[in-house]
Amino acid sequence: VEQRTPFIAGNWKMNLDHLQAIAFVQKLSWSLSDAKHDFSQVEVAVFPPFTDLRSVQTLISADKLELGFGSQDVSQHDSGAYTGEISGNFLARLDVQYAIVGHSERRQFHGETDAVVGAKAAAAVRHSIVPIICVGETAEDLAEHGPSAVPVAQLREVLSSLSADADIVVAYEPVWAIGSGKAATAEQAEQVCSALRETLVELLGEERATATRILYGGSVKSENIARFMREPNIDGALVGGASLAIEEFSRIIQFKK
Ligand code: PEP
Repeated sequence: VEQRTPFIAGNWKMNLDHLQAIAFVQKLSWSLSDAKHDFSQVEVAVFPPFTDLRSVQTLISADKLELGFGSQDVSQHDSGAYTGEISGNFLARLDVQYAIVGHSERRQFHGETDAVVGAKAAAAVRHSIVPIICVGETAEDLAEHGPSAVPVAQLREVLSSLSADADIVVAYEPVWAIGSGKAATAEQAEQVCSALRETLVELLGEERATATRILYGGSVKSENIARFMREPNIDGALVGGASLAIEEFSRIIQFKK
């Protein structure tokens, strides 16, 4: 039984201003509609910078596009003296469905710990936004602890901030594979994703664990997506670089064809 709808998420990072975002989303949606993409078979969402969200929301709602969208981060706080932060409340009011939390670039450049990532995931959940919880080991972690230990420990710590019934997505993103052009092999990714699934079973119970999507991220391209998607515990991809090229992202989305 296919219980989990495959999910392809495009993380734009700090690329495309709000005008470029409008043109991009229009072209992507034309490309997918030309290809007669069935969004009920493969869900798609884009993750633009905060300043683009209002424009993307307006376009998607005006043209009734089936494309989803989310934010790349969310504050752990709901309001107050937190200069530069963006509240989950504001995002929810823009129809944001998903928020990426704990991306390795946030962990690396902004010192986000698992406790902070957990608080951010909890903030998203408070506003009915589904957190996409990113976990993944560095090359040094891999050499020192093997493949699954660090991502599993990160997931445990983040989930300790959430109630067991919270709707979440997990993204396994080995840091050494992000933006490096050196994707994990499907076997490597499956090994970790299956360990993450077991952790979900232990912490959330069988039913929620079976319903929760686990994405792989790290140098996903149209050439390797189908191979990842054949693995039983990989339910989609978080795509960085390749999500910024319309035809390439469109081919990734249509991995089934
Ligand atoms: C990412 O930033 O989440 C990512 C997976 O990047 P890339 O696809 O460019 O490796």
